[in-house]
Amino acid sequence: AFGTVQVVGQDPREVLAGVFGYDAFRGEQEEIVRHVINGGDAVVLMPTGGGKSICYQIPALVREGTGIVLSPLVALMHDQVAALTLVGVRAAALNSSMSLEERREVEQAYRAGQLDVLYLAPERLSAPGTIDFLRQGRIALFAIDEAHCVSQWGHDFRPDYLRLGALAEYWPDVPRIALTATATPETHRELTERLHLEKAKHFVSSFDRPNIRYRIEAKQSVRAQLIAFIRGEHAGDAGIVYALSRKRVEQTAKALREAGIDAVPYHAGLPAEVRLRAQTRFLREDGVVVVATVAFGMGIDKPDVRFVAHIDLPKSIEGYYQETGRAGRDGLPAQAWLAYGLADVVQQRQLIESGDGDAATRLNQTRHLNQMLSLCEGVTCRRQFLLNYFGQQGSATCGNCDVCVNPPKLWDATVPAQMLLSTVLRTQRERNRTFAAGQHIDVLRGTASDRVTQLRLDELTTWGIGAEWTVAQWRGVVRHLLATGVLEARGEWGVLAPAEAAKPVLRGEERVMMREEVVVRAATRGRGTR
Ligand code: ADP
Ligand code: ZN
Repeated sequence: AFGTVQVVGQDPREVLAGVFGYDAFRGEQEEIVRHVINGGDAVVLMPTGGGKSICYQIPALVREGTGIVLSPLVALMHDQVAALTLVGVRAAALNSSMSLEERREVEQAYRAGQLDVLYLAPERLSAPGTIDFLRQGRIALFAIDEAHCVSQWGHDFRPDYLRLGALAEYWPDVPRIALTATATPETHRELTERLHLEKAKHFVSSFDRPNIRYRIEAKQSVRAQLIAFIRGEHAGDAGIVYALSRKRVEQTAKALREAGIDAVPYHAGLPAEVRLRAQTRFLREDGVVVVATVAFGMGIDKPDVRFVAHIDLPKSIEGYYQETGRAGRDGLPAQAWLAYGLADVVQQRQLIESGDGDAATRLNQTRHLNQMLSLCEGVTCRRQFLLNYFGQQGSATCGNCDVCVNPPKLWDATVPAQMLLSTVLRTQRERNRTFAAGQHIDVLRGTASDRVTQLRLDELTTWGIGAEWTVAQWRGVVRHLLATGVLEARGEWGVLAPAEAAKPVLRGEERVMMREEVVVRAATRGRGTR
């Protein structure tokens, strides 16, 4: 019932060809595999699609006993087990979604030494009896997948991972290999320490994906921008569009279909068979665009995804990099396209504020968001920024991102920034009111609305002083100041308040340099004048 392969003690290259059907190892795979086969611990940092699974699957086959794989996602486990079974590897998983009978069968096979690979969710280790159960079999190695989840400072902390440190005490002689695609230098250090991998050898691959072109645009009318992007540059291509909410997923998929693009929605709220059909169409047919929440993509291995588009701001660079990494695994040109705007910044800050995390969690989420915003607002090479974030070197210009291809003009926005800040301060001080961005922009541009007149905002000294800039430019300034922490957006309405960092700007000690980007051009071209 559990496959047939018997390759204990064989040369890893023969296993690679004989079991997996590949001609050669990629990158550092062979070194990693041999190191673990020889009983060494390993920490493997490899980008998505780099080929991490082979790094523990082959040692699990070659070494005597069962390779125990700790993996956080039950759905992924099943896919992996299915894929391994298909090539004849004796693989199984143990998780709470299985019936007692199914579990018994797997447990028995493990005890009898009939499993090459056994997948476990990390929380199972804390279940009573699991350690004793594991002791009844022979263990070839422990593989800790998505190892960044042990890092409290990472973007995806899972408390159950903390238990994994104990494996070193229970089984000091069993090699352990920790793998992740998203480790900053801090996370790398932290996971090494918490998993007690002090003696491990570290294998750090380059995180660069040279064939992916990174592009970040200011949001105007995001659906129109997305449709123009797909039609203009990716007609008939397979792609993934990421959105934050289920509702936006469905609305966007519908809009794309109406524009003649073969788009299907995917999110966790859809029935399993609908999701499966979307996934199958995406994998098997040409030119299907999946519009999805982040629930889509893990474990999906489609080499010719030509673009990944984000129509909402990702919560962290780690997430952004993992999601964009699904583009162009075949090495051919691919694009990562992101549109973001003022509303994204306000919304993400609110999500953090209203979230159920404690103060430390919120601080951590804010840190991740701020890094993401620095990338977006930045005026340097995107690739270099991303690589530096992951502790790696990039050349100053990559020649394959929007900044390198089309260098942004810098705009000295110090004066409008000061105008905006003083308007925020004045409405607070002189009218004892706080407002969201829209009201302030009306005041600055001298746009009279009922509300403005009613509150006598047109008597403020800042009334109409910023009429020379468009609404879109003003929204760009607000966005930039929010992104760089000069302004804060508070409460449900996102009312603006100056932060500590506003003082040097108001005093003229610090200049505000931002990109003069699509905002400006799109505003004069499109529907920018409200
Ligand atoms: P990761 O977990 O790092 O994202 P996977 O282990 O899923 O990557 O591997 C990505 C893809 O590359 C899979 O389709 C896998 O079968 C394939 N692959 C891995 N190693 C090799 C190799 N040496 N030769 C050819 N294909 C490989
Ligand atoms: Zn670049």
